[in-house]
Amino acid sequence: MGKNKVIFEKSVNNRIAYSLPECDVPEHNLNKYIPDKFLRVNSAELPEMSEIDVLRHFIGLSNKNHGVLSGIYPLGSCTMKYNPAINEELAKLAGFTDIHPFIGDENSQGSLKLIYELQKMLSEITGMHAFSLQPAAGAHGELSGLMIIKAYHEKSKEYNRTKILVPDSAHGTNPASVSMAGFETVQIKSDASGNVDIDDLRASIDDKLAGLMLTNPNTLGLFEVNIKNIAEIVHEAGGLLYYDGANQNAIMGISRPGDMGFDVMHLNLHKTFSTPHGGGGPGSGPVGVSERLAPFLPCPEIYADNDGKIRLNYDMPDSIGRVRSFYGNFGVMVKAYAYILSMGAHGVKSVSENAVLNANYLMFKLKEFMKIEYDRKCMHEFVATGAPLKEKGVSTLDVAKRLLDFSVHAPTVYFPLIVKEAMMFEPTETESKESLDEFVEIMRDIIKEADENPEYLKTAPHNTSVGRLDDVKAARKPILAWNSDKE
Ligand SMILES: *Cc1c(COP(=O)(O)O)cnc(C)c1O
Repeated sequence: MGKNKVIFEKSVNNRIAYSLPECDVPEHNLNKYIPDKFLRVNSAELPEMSEIDVLRHFIGLSNKNHGVLSGIYPLGSCTMKYNPAINEELAKLAGFTDIHPFIGDENSQGSLKLIYELQKMLSEITGMHAFSLQPAAGAHGELSGLMIIKAYHEKSKEYNRTKILVPDSAHGTNPASVSMAGFETVQIKSDASGNVDIDDLRASIDDKLAGLMLTNPNTLGLFEVNIKNIAEIVHEAGGLLYYDGANQNAIMGISRPGDMGFDVMHLNLHKTFSTPHGGGGPGSGPVGVSERLAPFLPCPEIYADNDGKIRLNYDMPDSIGRVRSFYGNFGVMVKAYAYILSMGAHGVKSVSENAVLNANYLMFKLKEFMKIEYDRKCMHEFVATGAPLKEKGVSTLDVAKRLLDFSVHAPTVYFPLIVKEAMMFEPTETESKESLDEFVEIMRDIIKEADENPEYLKTAPHNTSVGRLDDVKAARKPILAWNSDKE
């Protein structure tokens, strides 16, 4: 009933969901404090509905959405895993949510201690010397890290170092952050096995080298086996190594960016550490550094004094400065802290082991009827190519849309850019063997359909509340607000 109506269309004049008790105190008209030009002339046209209709409306909308609680969500590079619900409850504790940022460090010792201890935990998991939890997203962490690289070179008066090398498999935020930090991106090629092409790396190095940005495992889901060699080449040329640690799901408790030779990195707490990625935030992209870069971290530093008190250090002459108001997105930190503490060192390691096991299991099963681009052991994700289907006139997009008919979220599509018709799968550690098997059978049926009924595939989805959307029109002419005058 009224399935795709917006809430304004469901409105009935004078229908009320909630009534307030009669006012028993003198009324104050606050309008006199507001300049006339800001005062509303006509009353707001808000929808009028009963309480049950409001609830039905929003529950109906949420049912149209797909989340990890509705089914498998194998969106590569984004780690859409199930996060323990109890961590949401802990982040909601009044002691954490009711604290005002201006309360001062003396009266916020508990929260500051959580930040301090989380910094230490992340340092231990990644092998970095120190962390700042200020950045509010992965890309924000990248920008902060690149600003640190810049500050480091400028401190040694090496102003000529303006180039950052970025592999062609990199996440799109990498070159964007490089530009924002005032550097120039130099793309380096991947070799036939999906790793950095060492010859191209050597050829790209000159005295303008500021650093290299690397994701490991990379966005093909492959471990960079030459990382020690790469680190040596970059360091010898006076460059620094940046680690894009958005996805730690494959390596926690097994290998550490710090030990691989990285100087600076970011993490996405909102992927690996108990906050779901997507939905527009909030996020947290802590930036971590090796010892020589610690003086350049964002200010203030949160540290434990000799008396055990947690204090803020503003006396950091080499710091890149503040990158976020107050201390960053604190609620996300509470969840990460609770997650790491409850999992323990052993639990965190088993997350990675199972994430890698699940990805390899899924890859092995899909290989029976799909082409896997780099046929070697993968880490937490892998990339298949829809190129053989394309020859039959069916695209990766068609497959992705058809999956929606089975109440399954599509994999990441058309990324990384170096794989044709890419489909990037990341099952995560929280999927059971049964749900992976079910997903494989759905994929098998869809691939069969490419031969038997391609037209049906090309017009999918068929069972969703709206059919195939015109994404070009949605991007070019978006309708973002309800307009009652619409014809
Ligand atoms: C998600 C992701 C980012 C960016 O993180 P945001 O929080 O979305 O800014 C960067 N690099 C990689 C590899 C990612 O997967």
